[in-house]
Amino acid sequence: MKIIYQGKPREIEENANGFVAAKTLEPENKNKIIAYKVGEKTFDMRRVLLENEEIVFIHTSDKEAFEILNHSTSHLMAQAIKRLHPQAKFGYGPAIEEGFYYDVDFGDESLTENDFAAIEAEMARISKENVPFIRKDVDAKEAKKVFVDNPYKLELIEGIEDNISLYEQGEFVDLCRGPHVPSTGFIKNFKLLSLAGAYWRGDSKNKQLTRIYGTSWWSKEELASYLEILEKRKANDHRKLGRDLGLFMISDYGPGFPFFLPNGMLLKNALLDYWRKVHLRNGYVQVETPTMLSRDLWETSGHWDHYRDNMYTTKIDEKDFAIKPMNCPGAILVYKNDIHSYRELPLRFAELGHVHRHEASGALNGLFRVRAFTQDDAHTFIRPDQVESEVKAIMRVMDEVYNVFGLSYRIVLSTMPEDHIGSEEFWKRSEAALAQACIDSGHEYSINEGDGAFYGPKLDFKLKDSMGRTWQCGTIQLDVNLPHRFGCFYIDENGEKKEPYLLHRVVFGSVERFIGIITENYGGAFPTWIAPIQCAILPVSSAQNEYAKEVYDSLVSVGIRCKIDDSNEKLGYRMRNAQVNKIPFTLVLGDKERDSKSVTYRVFGEKEQISVSLEEFKKLITKSVEEKLRYL
Ligand SMILES: [Zn+2]
Ligand SMILES: [Zn+2]
Repeated sequence: MKIIYQGKPREIEENANGFVAAKTLEPENKNKIIAYKVGEKTFDMRRVLLENEEIVFIHTSDKEAFEILNHSTSHLMAQAIKRLHPQAKFGYGPAIEEGFYYDVDFGDESLTENDFAAIEAEMARISKENVPFIRKDVDAKEAKKVFVDNPYKLELIEGIEDNISLYEQGEFVDLCRGPHVPSTGFIKNFKLLSLAGAYWRGDSKNKQLTRIYGTSWWSKEELASYLEILEKRKANDHRKLGRDLGLFMISDYGPGFPFFLPNGMLLKNALLDYWRKVHLRNGYVQVETPTMLSRDLWETSGHWDHYRDNMYTTKIDEKDFAIKPMNCPGAILVYKNDIHSYRELPLRFAELGHVHRHEASGALNGLFRVRAFTQDDAHTFIRPDQVESEVKAIMRVMDEVYNVFGLSYRIVLSTMPEDHIGSEEFWKRSEAALAQACIDSGHEYSINEGDGAFYGPKLDFKLKDSMGRTWQCGTIQLDVNLPHRFGCFYIDENGEKKEPYLLHRVVFGSVERFIGIITENYGGAFPTWIAPIQCAILPVSSAQNEYAKEVYDSLVSVGIRCKIDDSNEKLGYRMRNAQVNKIPFTLVLGDKERDSKSVTYRVFGEKEQISVSLEEFKKLITKSVEEKLRYL
């Protein structure tokens, strides 16, 4: 029979399945092919191909193969658990970004991480048995018979409208739509990682199940390097570093409301000073709008009706007020404070706005998930013909800022959702403008179909850190709703009133969260320009104390943040202490340095000690700050 492969018709034997197709078409890769696609659908290798189907193989190097492997590993784990804990009932077991999980009901028994070794050993045994994953298509009645003892799967079966499929691996059967690797022998390099409680279907009214997280890789080396990254992430946890380096704290008196400590404040201010410079240079004006505004305003903006559950409210003189969860309405009042001509647009109002949003206490996590944070917001009012050029201008700012931190990113364009305002024509035009801005700025983007807000399309910027994680930070959101609701206008060239468009955008997103991200990204060893203390000054003995003060004054005079450590501890101890605090430069001052007006410096993480004149050192550390280098 004929099928299509790499755009060309190919002859293949009658009733060939994926294995036969792989052997015929890519004999050199046949062991690396684990599934295949026809259009958007992915199939197991055992499925028989149909006449004229166009097939694409999935190789172990593809991202999709990683998902299939990990999802298959969740089945393998379930089978092992069932052998060891026959009473276990299974809920959901999907692949996730870096691995998989399965939600399990262990009945009266409770599992700990100490049980992992036994489960892993059983998984290894089943892997050796190399049992095939066999798909069976059944009707609901038959499926319910198989899962008669499992209320979770029964509930899932109720919700399936089209075909139901079961997968058998030896004595174990699971409800699943597939696909999977051909057999358990493909799964060799896995590790169970952690446990968490998870309500069935994420609903706190339901029973809490035990979620077991794990990860699975094609090679031993990949697994080992992933586990190494996990160790590094643990060591770089910003909550731990935040405490060790004196950056921030959270008190029981205010869960989710971070305090910035002196070192954290130095870091935050360095970041914000830079942010202000960038925005001034790029034509923004900075404004500040009130933290609390009256209910009428939030009703006009729509927040009172749609966002109320996340807002903190209070009463002033018997009237309802809300603490702002967003800066937009305030910025609009600023815009409306004047009459604007078409020639003034774009008008870019930047605001470092401290917003409050309610988050469930269980969701709070260091600086990553808080209830109060600073948005590095901007609201730009534009004419409809300025969408593309202004989005490009915003992207230049994003590029500049993210490059400074060495963070690469990818862009996602979210398009018209089912529920929307504005004409199809408006959406088509704006989506095209956003896409064109990406292309012209030299950035690829992917599309998230139908995920825009009801009032306009948006671009999301997903940053990648040094430990392989992705963080959504920047967004550019086009909005035709708020300008309309608030009756904003500008005077066009014919003297007529026209409605402007509004672009909401953030670069850092939440400044607090961004600080959490870079703290982990750098492992607390910040580049000189944002390091809270940039230079530690250590006199060898009290005989150099006076010279230490002279060096301190000289560095502070050029804006360097220094600290003298003239405590009674031994020099070695004080040098180690500077390293523990990850201070970029440590100066050691002895008689020789004092007499020749020089310093001996050491860069964080390096062994080498270098002697230069004080003037030379001042130049060097200033350069490190100005060029935003990671030390030198
Ligand atoms: Zn499955
Ligand atoms: Zn906004």
